[in-house]
Order: sequence, then C-alpha cells, then structure tokens
Amino acid sequence: MQVNWRWIHAARNSFAVLCAACERDGFFLQPVDAPAGEVTCYSLNSINAAEYRDEIAAADCLTIVGGPHATACPQEVAEYADYVVVGEGEFTLPRLLEDLRDGGEGRVPGVMTGRYYEPAKSSVRLDAYPAFSVMKGYVEITRGCPHACGYCQTPQIFGHCMRHRSIGEVARFANRHGQSRFVSPNAFAYGSDGSHPRWDKVEHLFRACRHQIFFGTFPSEVRPEFVCAESLSLVTQYCANTKLHFGAQSGSDSVLEKLRRGHTVADVLHAVDLCRDSSLVPVVDFIVGLPFESDDDQLATLGLIREISRDGIVHVHRFIPLPGTPLATTVARDLLPETEKILGKLALRGRLTGSWNDPAVRFFRRPSNDIP
Ligand code: SF4
Repeated sequence: MQVNWRWIHAARNSFAVLCAACERDGFFLQPVDAPAGEVTCYSLNSINAAEYRDEIAAADCLTIVGGPHATACPQEVAEYADYVVVGEGEFTLPRLLEDLRDGGEGRVPGVMTGRYYEPAKSSVRLDAYPAFSVMKGYVEITRGCPHACGYCQTPQIFGHCMRHRSIGEVARFANRHGQSRFVSPNAFAYGSDGSHPRWDKVEHLFRACRHQIFFGTFPSEVRPEFVCAESLSLVTQYCANTKLHFGAQSGSDSVLEKLRRGHTVADVLHAVDLCRDSSLVPVVDFIVGLPFESDDDQLATLGLIREISRDGIVHVHRFIPLPGTPLATTVARDLLPETEKILGKLALRGRLTGSWNDPAVRFFRRPSNDIP
C-alpha cells in the first residue's frame, strides 16, 4: 500500500517522527505536494487547517489527518477527512495503516471517523520510538507539560505529566549529526516533574552529547523561573547557543495570573538580568491582545517589551484563541495605537520580530512550503 505524507513545512518535525515510527512497520511515507497514491497523511495545526480543508475533502485517495488541530477538533476534521488521528501518532498511525492494508475499516483506538471513535488506550513512551530516521528532525526530549497556560494546546494534546526520552536515547540521535537541537515545552525541565529542576540530569544529558548542542533556544525554549545561576552555567559550559529563549507573555502580573502562567513579571526581569550577566542574549516571547488585557495591562507589557529590547530580542505575537484551550471561546482585544507605534519602531530597529498585526503568520508559517 502506497502511503504518502502531505509535505507542510510547519509539520516537518512530525513528518520526521512519524516517518521513523511507520518505517518500523513497513510503511515508508513519501512526501508529496498534493494528495496521491492510496493514502495521504496530513498533520495540521489550527492556523493552517483551513488552508487544506478543501484539498482533503476533494482527495481521490484515503486521507488521514492528525496534528494539534485534529486533536483539538476531531469531529470537525472528521467531516472532511476519512480518518482522524486524535492525540499522539507514533503508535496509532502504523496500527491504522495496518488495519487499512488488511481491509479493515480503520476501527483503531485513537482514530475517529464519521461513525466510530474509541480513545487511545495509553500515552507514547518516547524511548519506544526513534526520534527520526531518514528524515532528520529535532530530538524530542520531553513531552507533556504540568502547566496550563490559557492559550496553549500542548497540555491538551500531551497531558500534564512530563515524559522524557532517556539520556542514552537522546545521545544516540543527537550524536548522529554535528549539531543538535531539541524539542521540549521547557528544556530546563529535562528529567524532572516540570516544577523541580534536575540539573544533574541536564548535565548528564549534555555530557552524553558529543557534538554542538543548542539548548534553551528554538525549538526547546525554557520557562523564566528556570533561568538561574545553575542553568545558565550549564548552558555556557556545554552549549553553543549565545541566546536563551523564554516566554514572558505579559508585563502585567494580573494578566499572568489569569493566564495561569505560574510565574511573575519579576521572574522575567530576573531571568533577563541573569542572561546578561552570563553574556547570553535573552530572546523573550510576548502575546498582545489577550482578551482580559486592560489598557493599563497592555501598556505594562509595552513597557516591559521596551526594557527588554534594549539589550535583548523580543518576539511579539497577537493572541489567537486556539481550539481545545481554556481561552478557545474568547476574542482577541484591539491593540492601542501606542502599542502599534512602538512595536513597529522596535521592529524597524531589528529589536523585535513576530506577527502582532497578522495573527495567521505567527510562528507556524514560513514563505516556502517546498518539499526538501
Ligand atoms: S505555554 Fe509552555 S509552559 Fe505553558 S502550558 Fe504551554 S507548554 Fe506548558
């Protein structure tokens, strides 16, 4: 059975992971730029889902759709796709392909169709699957997040319990290439429960990786309260990155509390100071236009953005109510003229990047979607 993977740049790491998982069961996913063959798989996020909806609905082959959007809104996706993989795909997708190859109807736990759904019976153990195979990907070191930030789909998809790939398995994949980047909701939480850092495990991980390590920078950003003397000393001693990327999201403690971020503005300022003391450039994420942000809250965020941008880099994104999140049914508020003006000026000076004007751009898209 010929199984294709619809190449979408934003889902390139999902392709690397699922390609490796399916290969072990004899399914070799071929990247395509349109549905083809007997089966075509898609991974959609909530920003690009609308772009592929008509293509999937009109496809002449069987279509399987997974990814964050499919997990957040499986019933909606089941209206235009033949099969929806709800949640993690490493175990479920090969089982579904086997069932279809053997003439089944796709009645597999973790798969929704218009007529059937039974949730997956268990979570994926990262060590049970390769990080990547022929298609190089980032090494996912941790899945799941104990936090519950109101705008974020991660805990809804992967749960609140952190699961880590073992040091040996991380090193096995990291050492295949000259440079290693990792995927984690909070890289500094590696080996821990997500609240109590285990610097000993992070150091063991670094020692096991023989080549250049980029840690605490895309796509393994960290949380501000994990930025401390120990974590920065590990980064400066073992890693190649000169920047450290973390989320502040707001300059207002009241907004942070409503977001359930679990840290304060003071934590962010402390993290920025520590980065500067360690000669690391802080790269700090913000979200503007949050539904419960008052004018004063937004101005406080603007003030913090200006302060950080003096020596650091700021990424600003417009709030999007993503399906499946606690803020899914809310509406983004407008930006103040002052906010638009200052963000524009900082962007022109190269101190700020992001998409505060066009939420659809966010961090998911890039101009080229060509198959590599
Ligand atoms: S934003 Fe980060 S810390 Fe918050 S819930 Fe999502 S992954 Fe966890």
